[in-house]
Amino acid sequence: MKQLINKLRFAFPHLKFVGGTQFYWSPESGEIFYNSRANSAHAQWSLLHETGHALLGHTSYKADYELVRLEVAAWDRAKQLAAQFSLSIDEEHIQDCLDTYRDWLYKRSICPNCGTQSLQQGDYVHYRCFNCHKVWRVTASRFCRAYRRHKDIDQNIALHTLV
Ligand SMILES: [Zn+2]
Ligand SMILES: [Zn+2]
Repeated sequence: MKQLINKLRFAFPHLKFVGGTQFYWSPESGEIFYNSRANSAHAQWSLLHETGHALLGHTSYKADYELVRLEVAAWDRAKQLAAQFSLSIDEEHIQDCLDTYRDWLYKRSICPNCGTQSLQQGDYVHYRCFNCHKVWRVTASRFCRAYRRHKDIDQNIALHTLV
């Protein structure tokens, strides 16, 4: 893990990697946080994924549907990085992450009143139901939500930190 961070720092001197307890990209501070205690293949994949967000200059507070597209883009970039550093990312892991993400976004869009799938409003924090016109608030959508599907994942490996 340390080795990979050193390689990334060398390859991308403009990026800032900061040790912490979770993996995430902060568009506000321009820093990539990583779990300094994690040292598994999953941890490396998470690091490459967050580096992908950083290299693509992804910013937060987008519409939910847009975030899914950016998550896919970050994984594509992560795969290129993996190839560059002679690593490989398990495709199934990527699809699991994206599925978890899509499930979460889908649940946000379901009307709590009548169950109709609805459209997010332009402020990114409200949805409005076509059917019964109920309006509800969701947390602002951001990159990276908690991903805990596999028990074998390091406990702190939040690929996806929900704020
Ligand atoms: Zn409704
Ligand atoms: Zn992400």
